[in-house]
Amino acid sequence: METKKTEAIILRTKDFGESDLIVTVFSYRYGTLKGVAKGARRSSKRFVNSLTTFSLVNLAFRERRSGDLVWLDTCELAEGFPAIRSDYNLLSKASYMVELTETLFPSNVQNAEMFQLLKFGLGSLSEKQNTEETMIMFQTRAMKIGGFGINLSQCSLCNRRYEGKGRALFHPPSGSIACLSCEKESVLNPGMGPKTVQVLEDFQSTDLSLLQNVQCDDDIITELKKVLMMHVEHRLGKKLKSAKYL
Ligand SMILES: [Zn+2]
Repeated sequence: METKKTEAIILRTKDFGESDLIVTVFSYRYGTLKGVAKGARRSSKRFVNSLTTFSLVNLAFRERRSGDLVWLDTCELAEGFPAIRSDYNLLSKASYMVELTETLFPSNVQNAEMFQLLKFGLGSLSEKQNTEETMIMFQTRAMKIGGFGINLSQCSLCNRRYEGKGRALFHPPSGSIACLSCEKESVLNPGMGPKTVQVLEDFQSTDLSLLQNVQCDDDIITELKKVLMMHVEHRLGKKLKSAKYL
């Protein structure tokens, strides 16, 4: 079988047999892959310090004749993001990013844009600046890339256009905004000020390179955290396991 190479991010590892590891990665070229790293728990030159969750690596692997596991040949560390592992708050956020990525893009679904977003998100977290903004931006964009962008242009109930003035509500069943004539602001329909809607719009559509170290006011962060948690839960039909640690 031919050897394939790709950049990848380690999502998870699990002990397998006496000395092997089962490694799950999200790769640039092949999406989520699960592979066996033979002898990785003994000292192995082929996997030096690279098989740690959140690490960015250069991977070489071969497909097997049957089954959905691949053979990992070599794995070289490109960036370990060590800061993430030494801070519980960052670790929780990174774990959520990884879980959301795998949920949106299960096995064999390749998406280069999602790979770049995860790499960007982990890199931003490891710099320890504006981590709340990083998290909201990651959720917003991951959902958009996965086909679940939030419609911010009009009320989903009466179709009235939102002109960017006054408060709007988030309407989880439609993944869209609603106007205050159609619904009341409540726990089920959290409200957003016009600046919050604008930030959401920017997070959904601005080029990733322009979103480095974005900073938002606290009230915008508070509003967006509620909206994004509800949006993810509604669209995926479940609460992510790592959400409870956020
Ligand atoms: Zn309406």
